[in-house]
Amino acid sequence: MARYTDPVCRLCRREGAKLFLKGTRCYSKKCAFERRQAPPGQHGVRRRKVGDYGLQLREKQKIRRVYSVLERQFQGYFETASSTPGVTGENLLRMLELRFDNVIYRLGFAVSRAEARQMVGHAHFVVNGRVTNIPSLQLRPGDKIEVRETHRSREPFKEAVEAIKSRQVPEWLSVDGAKLAGSVLTAPRRDQMPLDLNEQLVVEYYSR
Ligand code: SF4
Repeated sequence: MARYTDPVCRLCRREGAKLFLKGTRCYSKKCAFERRQAPPGQHGVRRRKVGDYGLQLREKQKIRRVYSVLERQFQGYFETASSTPGVTGENLLRMLELRFDNVIYRLGFAVSRAEARQMVGHAHFVVNGRVTNIPSLQLRPGDKIEVRETHRSREPFKEAVEAIKSRQVPEWLSVDGAKLAGSVLTAPRRDQMPLDLNEQLVVEYYSR
């Protein structure tokens, strides 16, 4: 499975926004973006004029990086989103939100999507009673997710039980911290995905 392995904080500096890719570090003083916001590289501090194409490209890259999806897979999501009834940009975000690794992160079992992806890869979860280790799996309303019984005493889940108590779960999900279980109630609407992302620019990018 191909994935991005270079330092991720430079991605925040490149996109000019905090993408929250490193869990608790992102909320601490150690956050690289808080200390230095110029784009990475020798010429990072240079002022550049950004045209329409540049804006569209940056927004597409930003969304792709928030969800840690590589280009080809992201393009595939866009093609599916545009052939699905409804608003293409909203369909795209919904598909990204319903990825298995994202749902694990949203439920509070992991502090970042990267950690969620690793947990899924290590087969810590069952979906509707079946062990599942595919981070890109599209979940559907009614799906039930649980930590495998034999894995519940492991370190990350001891911390998750505490973290879930103080974490707000989106209204399209439900979680039971004590049982380390959750479920997808509905597919999220745009207003239930409070993301500082402009998906319309992505639609324009791929419609050129
Ligand atoms: Fe981005 Fe988090 Fe790194 Fe800060 S700590 S630059 S928010 S990934």
